[in-house]
Amino acid sequence: MEFQDFGLPAELVRAVNEQGYKEPTPIQAQAIPAILNGSDVMAAAQTGTGKTAGFTLPLLARLGERETPKGKRPVRALILTPTRELAAQVQESVANYGRHAGMKSTVVFGGVGMQPQVDRLRRGVDIIVATPGRLLDHIRQRTVDLSQLEILVLDEADRMLDMGFIHDIRKVIAELPRQRQTLLFSATFSDEIQKLALGMLTDPVRIQVEARNTAVEIITQHVHPVNRASKRALLSQLIRNGDWRQVLVFTRTKHGADRLAKQLEQDNITAAAIHGNKSQTARTRALADFKQGKVRVLVATDIAARGLDIDQLPHVVNFELPNVPEDYVHRIGRTGRAGNEGAALSLVCVDEMKLLKDIERVIGRPLDRQVVTGFEPDPNERPQPLFKKRQAPAAARNRKPQSAAPRRGKPAGGARPQQRQRAMAGGKR
Ligand code: AMP
Repeated sequence: MEFQDFGLPAELVRAVNEQGYKEPTPIQAQAIPAILNGSDVMAAAQTGTGKTAGFTLPLLARLGERETPKGKRPVRALILTPTRELAAQVQESVANYGRHAGMKSTVVFGGVGMQPQVDRLRRGVDIIVATPGRLLDHIRQRTVDLSQLEILVLDEADRMLDMGFIHDIRKVIAELPRQRQTLLFSATFSDEIQKLALGMLTDPVRIQVEARNTAVEIITQHVHPVNRASKRALLSQLIRNGDWRQVLVFTRTKHGADRLAKQLEQDNITAAAIHGNKSQTARTRALADFKQGKVRVLVATDIAARGLDIDQLPHVVNFELPNVPEDYVHRIGRTGRAGNEGAALSLVCVDEMKLLKDIERVIGRPLDRQVVTGFEPDPNERPQPLFKKRQAPAAARNRKPQSAAPRRGKPAGGARPQQRQRAMAGGKR
């Protein structure tokens, strides 16, 4: 099967060929014909499966079927994503695949000024890629008009629910015409996703490709047991001895990410940190430097790393194990993408043994332990608690359990739900 067999317009096939893709991935093989058909689609596919092209190509083809109306272009397609990074990357893909098709697209997310977005929206775009919160701001200020929308895509819908965006999503959808094509992409079809889909999709074609675990198969994973205080020296040695040029390193906290990046720099290893406290500009620059090979190590927290699209990442290191075992799977999915081999390794000290067990339970097998000579862990090292117990604020202590659930919309006091969720997970990520 080749891309031209789908009946995609020549200018899209040309853009795909320029990307060097030889054949469609399984999700593309299933999603493209269904979307071209005009069907609503509900697809279980994770990052790394080629899902972005899977919805972007047929979306561009569908929009191209009708001539762009004269005058100001109406917004005809909206792609919602959970994070700013993912929004930026998806829009890059839209611009890339659509570069010969004459469609205009823009990206809309928070953390940067409104006005440049307002200006671009005023000039008219065919496609918006957005995170839900900022898009709602534009809707409220009437700086965007979605009344002529034809196609809605929810990308990484499960993450949007996890991050507490459900109410924002519903508010956005209330602004859209009922008559539209809706495409929902999610890593899982959980009960919550099914519920969301129920009111939103009409008679959807369901697509389930082998989970990214096909990729996980070609990721070698192991654990280096090590003393707490020796992790950084071990990491520097691994990077140097292995001559690793591009490594994504995960820490549990923002502070830890900053500190590690600084320490690596002191070891003469170029590094940048990327996390939620950094400005959008700083994050974009760090990612660009990393992609271009200007920095060897990108140190990231889980939230900041969501949706990062970095091609052929050979090494992922868990400098600290994640609090939530499922995050381990997301982290290592950053390597070995779209058929490339990758290595994921975890530096684990005595404090993290319980987290390691939880991860092994989730992935269904024990991880291979490899002690590095010179970094043998001291069997007498005593575990320390990973999280300092913090006194919850009075309001939180008095809250009823039900209203404290992280997914149920925005908490009082203006904090975004994901901030609260992170606070509840124990660390400052
Ligand atoms: P995604 O799952 O959309 O994040 O895509 C994962 C990676 O696969 C991206 O780096 C794409 O550039 C790449 N990719 C998408 N489609 C193909 C394809 N048909 N062949 C090879 N690589 C692809």
